[in-house]
Amino acid sequence: MLSPERLTELVRGVGMTSQRTRDRMVARLAEQGIRDARVLATLASEPRHLFLDEALAHRAYEDTSLPIGHGQTLSQPWMVARMTELVLEEAPARVLEIGTGSGYQTLVLARLVPELWSIERINALHRRATERLRLLGAQQVHLRLADGGHGWPETAPFDVILLTACAGELPAPLLAQLADGGVLITPLADSRGRQWLTRVRRQGDHYERQRLEPVRFVPLLEGVIR
Ligand code: SAH
Repeated sequence: MLSPERLTELVRGVGMTSQRTRDRMVARLAEQGIRDARVLATLASEPRHLFLDEALAHRAYEDTSLPIGHGQTLSQPWMVARMTELVLEEAPARVLEIGTGSGYQTLVLARLVPELWSIERINALHRRATERLRLLGAQQVHLRLADGGHGWPETAPFDVILLTACAGELPAPLLAQLADGGVLITPLADSRGRQWLTRVRRQGDHYERQRLEPVRFVPLLEGVIR
């Protein structure tokens, strides 16, 4: 068990994981066009370094994606900030995330949206993220080990569904679990395999796609790894 003092020390960080380093990262994000003050404040205060293995923690605040094991990656800070901005634009009450991964994007969302569900298909990542989120006081997030392509039907509809892995096609169950007026925010591959951040808005039975910017994510995969 961690003592409360030790936990505070860990969260605060030191050297390359210190508050100064976080502040520098946030200043860069602002220069790169991230405008939402709530997003910047959250990234300035949350310990991204605790979502990586100790050997990589010193690189947590570089503007780069980093490995989290099992062939998966923690997205670069800019991507997390941008996706969070897009989510907040909707002023959503209920958000579903597919691809918990390390749990860092999950934590950032948990601080900013009223109710959050998140699904991961790799048990080891799911368990570690559950532990970290509990430690950091975000135990209100609903986490599930499952194939996120099926969504979370019992609690649908959602105002926003966010995918942090790239699909080749939009999963039909996810579209069906959007509230009217709600959006799916996802990387989506085009016919040449290039990935685009894409926003799909539901209007009744109609889904309107908007292509945003080029991105790079790991693929959305099927099934569960226990
Ligand atoms: N947002 C994460 C990014 C992790 S990378 C973070 O901040 O760390 C994408 C994650 O999506 C991986 O953990 C991968 O295992 C997961 N994933 C891929 N396909 C999935 C699926 N069908 N259902 C649930 N999770 C999936």
